Amino acid sequence: MTSKKIFVTQPFLPPLNEMQPYLEAIWESKWLTNGGPFHQQFEIALAEYLGVEHIALFTNSTLALVTALQCARVTGEVITTPYTFVATSHSLLWNGIKPVFVDIDPLTFNLDATKIESAITPQTTAILPVHVYGYPCDITAIQRISDTYGLRVIYDAAHAFGVNQNNQSILKSGDLSVISFHATKVFNTFEGGAIICHDAKTKQRIDYLKNFGFADELTVVAPGINGKMSEIQAAFGLLQLKYIDFAISRRKEIDTQYRNSLNSVNGITIPTHPKSSKHNYSYFPILVESDYYTTRDKLYDFLKENNIYTRRYFFPLISEFPMYSSLPSAAKSNLPVAHEIATKVLCLPIYPDLSSEEVDRIISLISNYC
Ligand SMILES: *Cc1c(COP(=O)(O)O)cnc(C)c1O
Repeated sequence: MTSKKIFVTQPFLPPLNEMQPYLEAIWESKWLTNGGPFHQQFEIALAEYLGVEHIALFTNSTLALVTALQCARVTGEVITTPYTFVATSHSLLWNGIKPVFVDIDPLTFNLDATKIESAITPQTTAILPVHVYGYPCDITAIQRISDTYGLRVIYDAAHAFGVNQNNQSILKSGDLSVISFHATKVFNTFEGGAIICHDAKTKQRIDYLKNFGFADELTVVAPGINGKMSEIQAAFGLLQLKYIDFAISRRKEIDTQYRNSLNSVNGITIPTHPKSSKHNYSYFPILVESDYYTTRDKLYDFLKENNIYTRRYFFPLISEFPMYSSLPSAAKSNLPVAHEIATKVLCLPIYPDLSSEEVDRIISLISNYC
């Protein structure tokens, strides 16, 4: 095997020399963290790019999730999805909150809004949905439930950088949204994340919480944590922001190339992008159905033998991990759709530096499996 290894994603890196002036400025000022100039600039630039009012930057989005739940004073039980990355429900356990899993929608892979109400108990205080693959949740239905039952809504929007619906950022929905800038995401700051909120008071509370609860030099107002983003991360984010539109447009081309060719392969289903939304092409999931030549796992192995490293996002489901599996809501019978999708899904490589020849090779391996 002589071909190079192709992973499901590869971070997009701007030209190295363009980072130099930012580094020189940091070395010059010696201001490395704690809300320095790049941190301030990046918050403003990002809010403008995303079309939201208030952003609080974090050093990663798992700490942002943990802090968002603290900020909203969420307790008791929270309704969430098993079809996501483990950080979603881990953030509940870190707050001593009990996750209550609800099944997903077979088309969007997001929390099935029609199944939320029957999972609400007197202990329920919030809903924690995820915009999986950047596909928007049913935000209207979720808002209606939240209004009716007085529940907080905190979106895990880790996949949803730059996603709009009806010409508006989906990060504006719910009480808070949490976005990730991890190296594997569409937009990265090596590690990083942010909470999006809708008013200045909430933004201030989040800023206290992410800085040990300090309100000023002598005043501590909450048992906060250290979630601050550093100047290097913020500077890299500012530079990365100049290239994000290019990166997303290249992802779109790859998405189209896969879609046009794989659509006609027997036994491969390609989820459709939700209408009326601006997508970010963060992932390219396919479903390997029972009438494909082989099983999903055999296809995964076959591609791996050919140096194509796909990922089974999200398999196993969170509800199958030992710290969750004994919860009543984690029962397989409660989550039939999530289980079905988790056994069929395969995410194919998609990132700006992937060439169209490489995409063609992947398409040909899947089309001509034998
Ligand atoms: C990546 C991811 C996270 C965690 O983000 P980090 O920035 O790596 O902490 C949380 N939720 C989802 C759905 C993710 O994909």
